[in-house]
Amino acid sequence: MRMLLKDGKDKVVTLSYDDGVVQDIRLSEIAKKYGLKITFNINTGLYMQENAKRDKFYGRLKLSEAQKLYLNSGNEVAVHTLTHPFLVKLSDTEIINEVMTDRKNILKQYGCTANGMAYPQGSYNDRVIEILRKCGIAYSRTTKSTENFEFPTDWITLHPTCHHNNPKLMELAEQFVQGKRLGRSRMFYLWGHSYEFDDNDNWDIIEDFAEFIGNRGDIWYATNIEVYNYVMAYNRLKKSPDSRRIFNPSIIDVWALDEDGVFCIKSGETVSR
Ligand SMILES: [Zn+2]
Repeated sequence: MRMLLKDGKDKVVTLSYDDGVVQDIRLSEIAKKYGLKITFNINTGLYMQENAKRDKFYGRLKLSEAQKLYLNSGNEVAVHTLTHPFLVKLSDTEIINEVMTDRKNILKQYGCTANGMAYPQGSYNDRVIEILRKCGIAYSRTTKSTENFEFPTDWITLHPTCHHNNPKLMELAEQFVQGKRLGRSRMFYLWGHSYEFDDNDNWDIIEDFAEFIGNRGDIWYATNIEVYNYVMAYNRLKKSPDSRRIFNPSIIDVWALDEDGVFCIKSGETVSR
């Protein structure tokens, strides 16, 4: 028996965009058009002041703009720390403050528990990781591309498939889309900063990617935390000694594949195979 994803699919696409900038508005529109979900990693200590004037379409979102954009959007708001420091250079207490204050602000401003994170500057080490776990962080995204579609072995160092400027982006997307059931479920994990599309004048990269990979019936489009919660629910299944009876103690329905085919184990239910 092996894990399938939501609705018996075996591919998931997820996006992770950092810093909470105005270009997130345009990125959200593209994602919505093609059915993609995004995790936005934000610094709640760095919003633009509400009364500040914007010279051009650039910079951090104001809190009011961010709430309008992210609230009830179906996208995720996740931790990127309060002020975007190099975490490895901070004391334990400073790291706790950067993470927990951002978490508390996100809870207050967006109503989500904010168990997800992306490392600012991609900076982490064993000490940082140990503190994050104590701060209730379930997963944290790095900046190291795998150029593959594997689920992470340890979600606290969640390595993405690639950055959107990776020259192999569309080649990887084609591999991902064309791949049939290969013995395990797969995840395409894209990351970046939406301001880079303006800086490099290359919005066509994300338009082309989204148009190609989006709105497909055999792909699940999810935020990072939705993927994490699903995989955790699958990992918590309880099996009888002969593996014929499987109990799902979680609140999420999960799907699996065995020699008899695809099946669903609904939340709180037991399935006999
Ligand atoms: Zn950042």
